Amino acid sequence: MGYLKRMKKVIFLLMLSLQLCLSAVGENRIWQRGYTFLNFLEDYQIPLRLYYNLPSGDKELTAEINAGVEYQILKDSEGKLVQALIPIDEEIQIHIYRDHYKYKMTFTPIKTFQKEQTLALEIMDSPHQDIFRFSKDLALANEFLNTYKNSINFKREVIKGDRLAIIYTRKYRFGQFFGTPSILASMVETNKKQNFLISYNGGRFYNLEGKEVAGFLLQMPLAKIYITSKFSKARRHPVLKTIIRPHFGVDFRAKIGTPVYAAGSGRVISAGWKGGYGKAVEILHEGGLRTLYAHLSKIDRKMRPGIYVRQGQMIARSGNTGLSSGPHLHFGLYKNNRPIDPLGSIKTTRSKLEGKKKQEFLKNMQRYKKQIQDELEQLNSKTRSIQTQGGAVEDTSLEDR
Ligand SMILES: [Zn+2]
Repeated sequence: MGYLKRMKKVIFLLMLSLQLCLSAVGENRIWQRGYTFLNFLEDYQIPLRLYYNLPSGDKELTAEINAGVEYQILKDSEGKLVQALIPIDEEIQIHIYRDHYKYKMTFTPIKTFQKEQTLALEIMDSPHQDIFRFSKDLALANEFLNTYKNSINFKREVIKGDRLAIIYTRKYRFGQFFGTPSILASMVETNKKQNFLISYNGGRFYNLEGKEVAGFLLQMPLAKIYITSKFSKARRHPVLKTIIRPHFGVDFRAKIGTPVYAAGSGRVISAGWKGGYGKAVEILHEGGLRTLYAHLSKIDRKMRPGIYVRQGQMIARSGNTGLSSGPHLHFGLYKNNRPIDPLGSIKTTRSKLEGKKKQEFLKNMQRYKKQIQDELEQLNSKTRSIQTQGGAVEDTSLEDR
């Protein structure tokens, strides 16, 4: 090939790739309620074997995509999908991409930026409205309300001029809020009396004396418990550097037909087929808590979205539906759509910290209390709210180790 010809070819290829880049269209979309991973593949004319060839654990994970979550797609000029990024929790996402006209799928970490922040303000309308007005963070306002749900009636007890303060960590993705903030400590006045809540023990809340104030009380969903698989979060394989898949729940061995009980009182939000989870029931409880019961054989006929169930009420019978390796109950627990370990959370009484745990708690508590008081001191008649941005918090969950 002559030099000129070769140059022409290079230029042609450059132009082509440039054109591809320019004509590829990125788009952010919202995952709709009832939309499944298979629907997604169909909509973009991706062969369904991409799903059917997945290992069963991965198939379960595709049923974890939450309605309302924002995902990204990139299409070429013909409207064909080039790649898609679909979050399944706050840490990992499904990555679908075209590679030599074949679609491939993998799980990748979600890159977020995490910061510790403080908000202090004087209440003008209501804690919820004021938090939202000053922070523009609806999830933070909701989370604050959830935290005090069991201890304070804001409408009756909080008066205009009372103050509140929150120390929390916030995740950002593409410069916007991502997921739900974690409240580390908070204070709200009720007629000038200060009410502190300090987070300890993985998201449970205690007063200054180390007595649990706002904790969720759940019971086991089966009468007899035998664990076959525990809860785990996504991790990076120490050698291969690939993502080790998480297991967003606990598996209990259970013969087909074993009664399944509601772990807490609440409202049924879904009852029916849920992708790899087979027949499943989801119940929404107080405080942004949700439970999932999967691979069921039979769902009680009364279980329909909107129906209220009591704690301990029989809701279904266990089975082996969906992608299940044998008869068992998969039990999942979520706080604000974030999967948490059910075993660490099931408690029937509120606890009181003692011994070493109490010492550790008191140390944390004093630091948070001082930080909140310093923040409140800066409030005066002119400054009704302050928001302090702390340093970046390293998010190490999926980092190389
Ligand atoms: Zn499971």
